[in-house]
Order: sequence, then structure tokens, then C-alpha cells
Amino acid sequence: MFSLISLPYAPNALEPVISQETIEFHYGKHLQTYVDNLNKLIAGTEYESMPLEEIVCKAQGGIFNNAGQILNHNLYFTQFAPVNELANERMSELEIMKAIERDFGSFDAFKAEFEQKGVTLFGSGWVWLSADKGGRLVITQETNANNPITKGLKPLLTMDVWEHAYYIDYRNRRAAHLQALWQIINWEVINQRLINK
Ligand code: MN
Repeated sequence: MFSLISLPYAPNALEPVISQETIEFHYGKHLQTYVDNLNKLIAGTEYESMPLEEIVCKAQGGIFNNAGQILNHNLYFTQFAPVNELANERMSELEIMKAIERDFGSFDAFKAEFEQKGVTLFGSGWVWLSADKGGRLVITQETNANNPITKGLKPLLTMDVWEHAYYIDYRNRRAAHLQALWQIINWEVINQRLINK
């Protein structure tokens, strides 16, 4: 049985970048539904006792879709912090920042490529920053419920470009939403994902 993750912040803590109403729908309803659906689908199957990552790498159809969306949203919702709580002065010392500068030339060049891949992803999906087996950082577009772990990559940072992630607050302005999200990325969390084995 899987359960809904706890948020490491209050539902209104990410305003004005993500409203409490969006959190209530996106986390409280969409993610809860994926959790409920997966629990029903895996009951009595070989997937019942598997970790989420293993289900995503092995399953197909409805089980894959719901497990993938849980994994994606768990990584998404735990990577944020309220704007005024971020320790930006320590950012440049983090391994992730050194890796971004090494592999993309600069933080601004990385952000531009990431936003461009988020804006040009047609339909529903996710844009990801991941590390490959050699530790090199890559940006990938994944459609629907897909996660870079199925390509052997280690997912570090993601932006959800399903319309449910931004339509309440930004209507059709996906690019404006993606640009705003940088203000609430908790780079300490992204750094931990990079350095964890
Ligand atoms: Mn979503």
C-alpha cells in the first residue's frame, strides 16, 4: 500500500508562485487519486510489495501510469521551499551548481534550455534534469507518466507541464509558470539527490 507523501511546507507557503488552491487540487486531489488507483490496481499482484521505482521500471498500462505519476509528483512536491526560506547565498558552494556550470556553461544557459524544453513539450509530461551513469547532467522531456529512471538516469529536478499544474494560477501561460518556479526550487534537496548513491 502506498500513501500520499507529506508536504515539507504549509499548503499556502509557496504563494504567489503556486497558490494554495493549486496545491489543494494538484497534491490533494490529483496525486491522491494516483495513489488510490495504484493501490487498487496492485492489490494481489506481484507489484504489491515492490518499491515504486521498481514498479515504474517493470510495469505497463495503468499500473505504470499511476506509479509513474506518484514517483514524478513525489520528486516534484518535495523539491520546493518558500521563497523567503531559501539559502541562496550558499547555492554557489553546492556540487549541483558546479555540475550545472560544467555541463551547461552557466546557470542561466541551463535555465534557458530547461525552460525551452518545458515550453516545447507537446501535450502532457515533465521536463527533467538528471545525472547519467558517468555523473554528467542532462535535460530530458518525458511524456505523460514517464520518468528518466526508465532510461537509466538519476532524476534530480523536474517541472510538471501537465495543464493541471498551472491552469488555476497561470491559465495557458506555461512559460510564465516555468519561469516563476525557479524562485521556489530548494537546491539543497536537488544537491542531495545528486550526491546520494
Ligand atoms: Mn501533476
